[in-house]
Amino acid sequence: MILHFEKGTANDEVQSVRDRLECEGIRTLLSTETARPIVGVIDQVPEDLQAELRGDRRIESIHICRGDRRMVERSYREMPLTVKVGKVEIGPGKCVVMAGPCSVEGREIMLEAARLAKDAGAHVLRGGAYKPRTSPYTFQGFGVEGLAQLKESGEHFDMPVVTEIMDASHLPAFVDHEIDMLQVGARNMQNFTMLKAIASAGIPVLLKRALSGTVDEWLYSAEYLSAFGCPQVVLCERGIRTYEKATRNTLDLTVLPLLREWTHLPIIVDPAHAVGVARFIRPLAAASVAAGADGLIVEAHPRPEEARSDRDQALLPNELAAIVADARVQAAVTGRQFHA
Ligand code: PEP
Ligand code: MN
Repeated sequence: MILHFEKGTANDEVQSVRDRLECEGIRTLLSTETARPIVGVIDQVPEDLQAELRGDRRIESIHICRGDRRMVERSYREMPLTVKVGKVEIGPGKCVVMAGPCSVEGREIMLEAARLAKDAGAHVLRGGAYKPRTSPYTFQGFGVEGLAQLKESGEHFDMPVVTEIMDASHLPAFVDHEIDMLQVGARNMQNFTMLKAIASAGIPVLLKRALSGTVDEWLYSAEYLSAFGCPQVVLCERGIRTYEKATRNTLDLTVLPLLREWTHLPIIVDPAHAVGVARFIRPLAAASVAAGADGLIVEAHPRPEEARSDRDQALLPNELAAIVADARVQAAVTGRQFHA
């Protein structure tokens, strides 16, 4: 249950309603950054107390939650959330592109890839230092060294960086290297221990949808991050596993309008891991922005044939530039700004 108070309700009035609930053992949360006071009620409210709340003239409306989530519910905030990653804002009215190689492969090549991303017009630099690989015999990433190379490249081209974390024990290295955004990959979406541990770092999280994750499960994972201290979450649709084997995964754009109703969190799309083939990415990227995505994340490499992971979906510089140009057009058509 989420309570929307009348605009201008004084803090102590809101607190008195919270105290009333808390003294019955019902936990509450105060939403921040909204123009009106909004309170999330965590526990079940008995009928008589519900009637009391409905009769309270300080409360303008009461919203019933879809599941056992509060903080990521659309009604928990008045306006959709804007997440800041370095200087880059992700959220309503804006459209961003994150790009870079699948893996950080060395200092020189990372700088080259960062230049490529910057020249194409991308805003956030990606690159994996810790790689979740299906086979234990393939390149696993350079770890801490990779974090340093990614951050150096980002700083060189004035771009914030996003990179995947696979183990909470690695978090201090991400903090030390001032990583701007933590990526929780599809394979770790429901690693609740890790979600709880990384939430306390105060670093925004890019939460990818699990390979077979439902929208409900995905939002519960976002609720974990929020409840444990990190409300700065961006969702990322990256394709789901279906019976279709002709493409790597099936890009589920149906979630875009649905999530607009269910949550206030920004959502970006990764068409690269969905389709898995570089030449098929462009139309899917344009469709994603046209359908309202707050941005894109794609993989690009100066020499895709040399890429140490996800070679088939690595975009060439001109292909990335075309995708960014399309995104700019689709963002304008749908009334959004493209970051400079
Ligand atoms: C990646 O971004 O390189 C990656 C492994 O993504 P996902 O978790 O979506 O498979
Ligand atoms: Mn990849």
